[in-house]
Amino acid sequence: MAQDSYKQHCRQEADTAGFAKKLAASLRDFFLLHPRAHLNISLEGELGAGKTTFARYLIQALGFSGRVKSPTYTLCEPYPLNMSNPDDSKNPNIVANHFDLYRMRDPLEWQEAGFAENFDEAGFCLVEWPDKAAGTLPPFDITIQLSSVSDENAREISISAISQDGVNILESLFSGENE
Ligand code: ADP
Ligand code: MG
Repeated sequence: MAQDSYKQHCRQEADTAGFAKKLAASLRDFFLLHPRAHLNISLEGELGAGKTTFARYLIQALGFSGRVKSPTYTLCEPYPLNMSNPDDSKNPNIVANHFDLYRMRDPLEWQEAGFAENFDEAGFCLVEWPDKAAGTLPPFDITIQLSSVSDENAREISISAISQDGVNILESLFSGENE
């Protein structure tokens, strides 16, 4: 039976990178089938949990070769990506919008800053600190929670599907695994 929630234990940062790479492969398959789709993915967890680190590995695994900086001061950093040919970033067919809402003082600041349309374009939004927008964001398809565990470099990643698209992506992500 399809599950809509999984936990991944990462003993070190390389495991987090590996998991981001697997999610990237599932997202690529999804966008090859649904090139005009839009997905919303939350990244939750304490400061230092690894949200930005995970986003960076994910965006790079999808073919972005430049620097993925933290969007703390800009609220959002967009990354044009090409799903059929990762090396062809000059002809993007989706955009990954990486948000960090930590510094927002008002839940609607992201709309006032002109980012509402980023939630409609083909591609996906990855949102750190969604709670700062207190119920003003469109619904999430997938939520990802990172938490620190015993070891300094270990993290637990919980990933849950909210929408049917999310369920399908998680199914492809974990198919063939028996953990
Ligand atoms: P956040 O965005 O959640 O505040 P960052 O990604 O900015 O967190 O910082 C996480 C820090 O933890 C980085 O310095 C990263 O190198 C480190 N780190 C150590 N182990 C891991 C791991 N297993 N997964 C992710 N980050 C890790
Ligand atoms: Mg961060």
